Amino acid sequence: MYDFCIIGAGVIGCAVARELTRYKTSVVVVEAREDVCTGASGANSAVIHAGYDPLPGTLKAKYNVLGAKMFPTYAAALGVPFVRTGSLLLAFGDNGRDALRKLLERGERNGVKNLRVIKREDALAIEPRVSPDLTAALYAADAGITNPFEFTFALKENSEKNGARYEFGFETASVENLNGSTTLISADGRKVTAARVVNCAGEGAGPVARILGDLIYLKHRLGEYILFDKPSAVSMPIFGTPDENGKGVLVSPAVSGKFFIGPTSVVSDRIKPYFRNSAVKELFGSAEKLVPGLENAPRLTKYAGMRTACADGDFYIGKGRRENVWHIIGVDSPGLTAAPAIASAFARSFGLEREPAFDPVRRAIVRLNGKSASEKRALISRDPRYGNIICRCECVSEAEIIEAVKRGARTIDGVKKRLSAGMGKCQGSGCDDKIAAVLARELGKSIDAIDRNVRGSGLYSGENL
Ligand SMILES: Cc1cc2nc3c(=O)[nH]c(=O)nc-3n(C[C@H](O)[C@H](O)[C@H](O)COP(=O)(O)OP(=O)(O)OC[C@H]3O[C@@H](n4cnc5c(N)ncnc54)[C@H](O)[C@@H]3O)c2cc1C
Repeated sequence: MYDFCIIGAGVIGCAVARELTRYKTSVVVVEAREDVCTGASGANSAVIHAGYDPLPGTLKAKYNVLGAKMFPTYAAALGVPFVRTGSLLLAFGDNGRDALRKLLERGERNGVKNLRVIKREDALAIEPRVSPDLTAALYAADAGITNPFEFTFALKENSEKNGARYEFGFETASVENLNGSTTLISADGRKVTAARVVNCAGEGAGPVARILGDLIYLKHRLGEYILFDKPSAVSMPIFGTPDENGKGVLVSPAVSGKFFIGPTSVVSDRIKPYFRNSAVKELFGSAEKLVPGLENAPRLTKYAGMRTACADGDFYIGKGRRENVWHIIGVDSPGLTAAPAIASAFARSFGLEREPAFDPVRRAIVRLNGKSASEKRALISRDPRYGNIICRCECVSEAEIIEAVKRGARTIDGVKKRLSAGMGKCQGSGCDDKIAAVLARELGKSIDAIDRNVRGSGLYSGENL
């Protein structure tokens, strides 16, 4: 029996697992899919928000500001990129100026530092490609961007190093023995027993709450994006003024040097993300107001994520009706930013004894891309498989893919998210089959058994044509 069982291996579940391993306790994470980071944590804007947007007094405001402060040190220990780009929120006309003043005041009440309203000329000097029609801007110097995939993988790897266990393909379907300990039963009949259960199931948190004896209403909002190739049109996230639907479409660089526009905000009764045909027009319509001239930028792909929120719009972090059940749910934006702070406070709340052997450090996979010619030669002489380039667009070698498999990649998307393989110009058409072949060999499986992402989505056997 484990002390804690966390349901869901998104950024919240993995961060909670990692923070709990700082203490003398045992932790298991059960995840419905075959890998971590397959839900909202793998399809978001990757912005570490400064914290001027959430309403003062909410959990969102508290954990956004705390999480943003923690993020740089946290990411450094985990070998995850964090770039303090700053962010700009553009105002147009007099109404826009009023909105900026309100957001500045809100940010100050939330405790955000280094936040100021700047003049049109100063905004254009910082970011020359923004629309010259702006009247003023809110500059948040402490905002930044990260790689949300790598952050979630790093949390999982570091929590595993410190003793946490992960059970994949475990779709929590029912429970037994709700008094004392709880036994979770997966859809395929596996069982995991723990003294305490924590629902971090993201988009699936409503059904999981019901299984655990609680009725929690959650709403879903689709967010669609378009990704463009390098070089980025902007050096920091550019926002318009928020409205009742949220922060609106932004134009933002990614840590890879590419950039994107999005997300849309569409209330949805489906919980899995999808991309609407009309979204392209909507996205360009909104993004062009912030940064004109994007229509001709080289597009790479479209993607989408699903936000899951509580009816009151705030995060829900608290106990269920039954003993020893907790929920950390309705964690929509800024949940990525807030994850370190939420997890740290949650783990601390149990008053457990510290684990002196806890090691906070996780080393990133050694990457060929970006290395000098002599560094590349040194890597290849150490392991010739660094010389076998599998993904030409993003310069990913066989050696890196083997390392990704050792760290838990089981699907083509698992490799892609860990290494950016297949995320370049050809979008995988030149390397998917080679990645599948390495996965099959390393995992001792037939290539037909290698899935793109979910079970049954194989390149050669799934319903994918
Ligand atoms: C469009 C969009 C843009 C965003 N932009 C930002 C941003 O720029 N900055 C920011 O800070 N935040 C942002 N966010 C918010 C952030 O992405 C989320 O807050 C965060 O990813 C939520 O993580 P999670 O772990 O709660 O959920 P998820 O990542 O969805 O993880 C939940 C996991 O639970 C699993 N699960 C579900 N049901 C079961 C079950 N029955 N049994 C076992 N496992 C189950 C799922 O498979 C999934 O892996 C954005 C979100 C979206 C959608």
